[in-house]
Amino acid sequence: MRILVINAGSSSVKLSVFDMPSGEQRFEHEMEKIASVEEAVAAIPALLREKNAAQVDAVGHRVAHGGMKFRDAVTLNAEVMADIKDCVPLAPLHNPPAIAGIAIAAETWPGVPQIAVFDTAFHQAMPARATTYAVPERWRDAGVRRYGFHGTSHQYMMERVAAELAMPASQFRLISCHLGNGASVCAINRGVSVDTSMGMTALEGLVMGTRSGDVDPGVFAYLNRTQALSPAEVEDALYHRSGLAALSGIGNDLRDIERRAAQKDARAELAIDVYAYRARKYIGAYAAAMGGVEALSFTAGIGENSALMRRRICEGLECLGIVLDHDANAAVKLEGFEAPQIQTADSRVKVLVTRTREQWMIARETHRLLSG
Ligand code: ADP
Repeated sequence: MRILVINAGSSSVKLSVFDMPSGEQRFEHEMEKIASVEEAVAAIPALLREKNAAQVDAVGHRVAHGGMKFRDAVTLNAEVMADIKDCVPLAPLHNPPAIAGIAIAAETWPGVPQIAVFDTAFHQAMPARATTYAVPERWRDAGVRRYGFHGTSHQYMMERVAAELAMPASQFRLISCHLGNGASVCAINRGVSVDTSMGMTALEGLVMGTRSGDVDPGVFAYLNRTQALSPAEVEDALYHRSGLAALSGIGNDLRDIERRAAQKDARAELAIDVYAYRARKYIGAYAAAMGGVEALSFTAGIGENSALMRRRICEGLECLGIVLDHDANAAVKLEGFEAPQIQTADSRVKVLVTRTREQWMIARETHRLLSG
């Protein structure tokens, strides 16, 4: 079965073609700085023809927010589309491009099954104590709760770590760090996501490229009173003008920030310090939440590539049995699907680095659903 995977974002569309069940990737492409999702998706058939990969038996779509409804991938129909649209207020940046992509794909490949795979699905098993905000009941009834994101990536990491450790996921506790432009940590207790750092929206938790992560919700009223900023203006700044970009003053790319920090630039040093400290706090919290931890994993742009950030995050975690081998950490060069271990021989916790494979996971879930 030839599966096209579409990951439509506001400024880019990623597409991949896989043969399933072999999992072999036929084609991969990213359209960046797109004019519109509609145009980008409509251009896919020509791209596929160029690569002799025009056959499409099913389309798998990444959908960021599935709200309370979706624990698994689903075949798209009018009812599911309506449910995804209902989640737009929860994911105003992320769900609309997915919806636009699905609509155009349905026109482009009529009669071909379209499947939605949700970034929230893996976290639907989280216990109430992790999903509940201590806010008025009416707000909670209106959907104000924690959902979590990057579920497809965290689930992949769990499976990849299990394979590497030759141990079923049901036998270890993993803290999975997905550190890309968006970033989250996930506590996976014996195969189940029990907590994660993103909450109702993709704004909570870690410091990100341009997103603040955790801030005191009191900043909304404070900035409104003192600087006449509206809630929408504050929210926009927390999404787009915060995070590493705000702290460093030179943008969100950690490579540039690391270069500046090496020259003792104080803002760059602070950016790295705040980023690592926040991640370290979450790792400590999740070790406590699970009553222990056997494995820690790093993935996505920063997690895969920045030995410096992995080292800074793990500094001080020796008390939890996490001891990095600094040479092994510095030597990580990921090419294929390898998952090198970077802890010392006497580290109680295994520490792994590997490339996440969200597109492949979406293809796998699509195939799984269609083959019953
Ligand atoms: P997205 O969440 O958009 O998919 P990625 O997972 O590709 O993002 O992560 C992108 C980020 O990874 C970049 O902004 C950059 O900060 C970081 N990054 C990539 N390569 C390196 C590197 N060699 N060293 C440090 N940071 C890196």
